[in-house]
Amino acid sequence: MFHPELSAPPALPEGGLRVIPLGGLGEVGRNMTVFEYDGRLLLVDCGVLFPEDHQPGVDLILPDFAPIRDRLDAVEALVLTHGHEDHIGATPYLLRERPDIPIIGSKLTLALTASKLREHRLRETVQHVVKEGDTLAFGPFELEFVAVNHSIPDALAVAIRTGAGLALATGDFKMDQLPLDGRITDLRAFARLGEEGVDLFLTDSTNAEVPGFTVSERTITPAIEAVFRESQQRIIVACFASHIHRVQQILDAAAEHGRKVGYVGRSMVRNMQIASDLGYLHVPEGVLIEAKRLPDYPPEKQVLISTGSQGEPMSALSRIAQRTHNFVFIEPGDTVLLASSLIPGNENAVYRVINGLARLGAKVVHKGNALVHVSGHASAGELLYCYNIVRPRNVMPVHGEVRHLLANGELARKVGIESVVIADNGVVVDLVDGDAEIVGKVDVGYVYVDGQSVGDVTETELKDRRILGEEGFVSVIVVVDSVASKVAAGPEITARGGFWGPGAFDEISPRILDAVNLALSDGVTDTYQLQQIIRRTIGRWVGDTHRRRPMIVPVVLEA
Ligand SMILES: [Zn+2]
Ligand SMILES: [Zn+2]
Repeated sequence: MFHPELSAPPALPEGGLRVIPLGGLGEVGRNMTVFEYDGRLLLVDCGVLFPEDHQPGVDLILPDFAPIRDRLDAVEALVLTHGHEDHIGATPYLLRERPDIPIIGSKLTLALTASKLREHRLRETVQHVVKEGDTLAFGPFELEFVAVNHSIPDALAVAIRTGAGLALATGDFKMDQLPLDGRITDLRAFARLGEEGVDLFLTDSTNAEVPGFTVSERTITPAIEAVFRESQQRIIVACFASHIHRVQQILDAAAEHGRKVGYVGRSMVRNMQIASDLGYLHVPEGVLIEAKRLPDYPPEKQVLISTGSQGEPMSALSRIAQRTHNFVFIEPGDTVLLASSLIPGNENAVYRVINGLARLGAKVVHKGNALVHVSGHASAGELLYCYNIVRPRNVMPVHGEVRHLLANGELARKVGIESVVIADNGVVVDLVDGDAEIVGKVDVGYVYVDGQSVGDVTETELKDRRILGEEGFVSVIVVVDSVASKVAAGPEITARGGFWGPGAFDEISPRILDAVNLALSDGVTDTYQLQQIIRRTIGRWVGDTHRRRPMIVPVVLEA
């Protein structure tokens, strides 16, 4: 995208720090960055990206491990900054390749990761729980952890000291000054590191285009209050299964209004169990019950907290909207609160769910009609503060689409930071003698997870799926007698997914027969060549007469 001219990087100069983002740049998701010093590697985050409409059948997209696959023995550790899927989701796939890579993260982050690892039957893993203020050395990397505030508790920034200098990766963060758990981004630590001299500052770009400051989580309390005050019937709240603070707000409101709460959706049940076991979620006495028992109470005493705020087709909320959930059925007068952001690419799916719920008679309260969500990321104002406090020598915007990275880089330049490195996935950045520069590029692509298969689905297959989805397919079977040099049977034409009425192929069928007979009489016997002739003949006809481009599957059989 940015750097088509780049080629493989030169050897890393002695005493230099190399940084290679494997994912998370030019996209929001699958964050993963490789740090290399003195032949050793440190990984920061290992997340997934969720597929969009143009990637049919794909469950998840992973960072491409190819550039480090041959060097996994050189990996000292994997640092996980926080427990969001776009930072921890690909960890099981990495550990499948080397299960004993030490994983480092806060208590909550590792607990959420561990439950994922167990699902993948990875039991013998090496985990180091850290908290803000801790320092820890892995090989040549001296790590220091700094508290940051984000839309999940227990997030950490990581300072990485090597002989090349000090790199500081913020992870995802914002600067809520009145967070629900009182744990603010530790700007005093940022300032101290700034005094020491931050050589490379990797900063969250997600909200760099948004002017001003991200408001406090507390500002959504009135909207939640209004829902609880006004609703005469059941309340269903959908939010991210990791948004522990949001769930806390709902639990507190339910307690105050004498309602019972049940969790719906596997990840919601699992994550909230972990969060309350570890003390990150405080469940008021007697409020929580099993969701299946909620119907024992009158509707005005019920609250469901559900997954599916992004319209994910298999999620609890989608099934509720389609009336296919096994025990939750919307009644007219119910209120559904979507307390989450709209991740770009999910808009259609979310509005489909909202419309489905509204059609069933529910009142839907969402970001478009009430203040029910605040972002988890620092806006431009907060980023400016950070740059002025840290005064780094070099800035490398991370975590964002191209426009976010550029906007973030612009903010750094505004406060007088001259060296801003706008990179892309696979772009190699070397920090040598205090200067960060792009020196080359390694090949990285998308790795698709589809059911049990990892990396088997290619771009070509995705293109096929799109064609099948949009244009359908036409198959043509011809049986040839190569001894007699003529068609023995067929063509038999079958089509799906197009407006092909009876007799639709009557016009083209004899032309295919002629074309194949002609080729046979010219001495063409190769099956592949004959199939190409069929493909061209019918393909051109479909294109010219029907303006369609279906997938064409020619099959030539020997009599
Ligand atoms: Zn996050
Ligand atoms: Zn993130």
